[in-house]
Amino acid sequence: MSDIALLRLRGVVKKFGGFTALHGIDLDIREGEFFTIVGPSGSGKSTMIRLLVGMDDISAGEIMLRDQRIDQTPANLRPTCMVFQSLALFPHMSVGQNIEFPLKLRKDSPAKRRERALELLDLLRLPRTYYDKRISQCSGGEKQRVALARALAFDPEILFFDEPLSALDYRLRKALEKELKDLHVRTGKTFVYITHSLEEAMVMSDRIAIMKEGKIEQIAVADEIYSAPVSRFVAEFMGEVNLFDVISVDGETLQSSALTISNDVTQSTLPVGGKGLLMVRPEDVQFVGSKDHFDYVLEGKIHAEYALGSRIQYEVEADGKILTVETLRESRIKDSEGLPVTLGFNASKTHLIGDA
Ligand code: ATP
Repeated sequence: MSDIALLRLRGVVKKFGGFTALHGIDLDIREGEFFTIVGPSGSGKSTMIRLLVGMDDISAGEIMLRDQRIDQTPANLRPTCMVFQSLALFPHMSVGQNIEFPLKLRKDSPAKRRERALELLDLLRLPRTYYDKRISQCSGGEKQRVALARALAFDPEILFFDEPLSALDYRLRKALEKELKDLHVRTGKTFVYITHSLEEAMVMSDRIAIMKEGKIEQIAVADEIYSAPVSRFVAEFMGEVNLFDVISVDGETLQSSALTISNDVTQSTLPVGGKGLLMVRPEDVQFVGSKDHFDYVLEGKIHAEYALGSRIQYEVEADGKILTVETLRESRIKDSEGLPVTLGFNASKTHLIGDA
């Protein structure tokens, strides 16, 4: 992945009548990166991708591809963009005919088309014998791969994906997530992907943009979005989280009503009297034994327990709310419900969100 911006959005606004769906988006998508846009329903993800591929007009702003302005260019004349949608396959045609469709439009010779289609079957790890197979005889996962092969046959610089895996069952989705990531590496192309699913975004992306109400709330690499969210919204959107209201006593030391904080924890970057949220993920909170030392400690009572395969999740009533703690299965607590517990975590595992 390079640092060069392949696609640049500046002040992009989209209005539908009196309703503003996108409020002045600034965004650089780099050449060769796997860029994912996540956000709740209605946050503007599909609107954004429709503008990028030219299916809809922008209301204000600019979209640049390298140094060329493309926001006024019709979709069919944006040679670099292609949306991948399995539903758009031709069911009455063979796999080969589907993949070759863009090459036929380009008037490539039949021999050349066939050669490229077979190469793409190899790339997508489908047997070459599938060339003659009917689309209607393919499984859901195979259809997704054919659709991808066809998108790649256009040889676009950027591939856009609009929730391509959302209709598939869990196992197939997991397998295709890995395949897509692998395909991204093998093709070196720029992938722009939108999804509701945080998990999907975390597995595949180089960088993630989180959208909320037509604005981008944060753009960062997946790890940073998870461990250092800029707001309560991002923290909560990126999985289970525990948040404590804190106030900075003297610009260095934090204070919270519920937490007992050891004196040496001086990590506040808030101004004196500034309010914030101290965040800790469930996997970083532990049940405190008599000899343990933690920077932050609080008392609570186990409210519920859920088995999540290899991990156990506990809901603990403390600080007037429900906190979440995750442990490995081997550390499971017997007869946990109603048990009084002490929870502990260290400052190094926390993240402070300012302006709460
Ligand atoms: P989802 O995940 O549910 O697909 P999304 O994040 O993709 O949601 P969009 O489809 O981009 O959200 O919609 C953003 C907002 O714009 C929504 O409030 C939606 O109702 C509105 N919107 C989208 N298209 C139109 C339209 N053609 N006319 C009016 N409003 C629209």
